[in-house]
Amino acid sequence: MLKQPEAAAMLKPSETVVYKFFFIYYKNMEIIIFGNELLRQKAEPVKDFNRELKTFLENFLNTMRKEKGIGLAGPQVGFMKRIFAVQTEKDVPLVFINPSIVETSQEMVKYEEGCLSIPKVWAEITRPETVRVQAWNERGRPFTLEAEGILARAVLHEYDHLEGILFIDRLSELKRNKLIAKFEKIRALGYADTVCGKP
Ligand SMILES: [Zn+2]
Repeated sequence: MLKQPEAAAMLKPSETVVYKFFFIYYKNMEIIIFGNELLRQKAEPVKDFNRELKTFLENFLNTMRKEKGIGLAGPQVGFMKRIFAVQTEKDVPLVFINPSIVETSQEMVKYEEGCLSIPKVWAEITRPETVRVQAWNERGRPFTLEAEGILARAVLHEYDHLEGILFIDRLSELKRNKLIAKFEKIRALGYADTVCGKP
């Protein structure tokens, strides 16, 4: 086995550079939790597709991955711009900038939803089965997407965040109050896993 100085001497300069890239750092963004007024504000359109936005998106997508969310919207990290990302299983993350909902199906479906900003509670929410959405991607290119199933669900949920709407707003008042009470209990207990009954 080589001694340390000898091993170091064997490295060519280019190899030393490569080593540095084994460590990828990113700033983990803090997710804003229910009760924070930012979640109730309408987000502003993105005007510049600049370097700042690119850096933001890298951290944003990493945060979404780390938190195991299938979607995340700007306001959830205090970035009050019209931007969200969705990543359903296996797929690469899709970034939606300045999105507009072009069309939704008449058919409505019920599906269980949760939100990283209201952790540990879930509820069945009725929404359109399919959606057509127009937006710009992270490179500033426009696209239109027709989505169904979980993807449509995630798009509609995240779009709501840009309008200051939360999934619990789509419940009846009685159900909403029950869910909020449950959430407040969990919050008071410090989000203990033992009370949530779900992983
Ligand atoms: Zn959410």
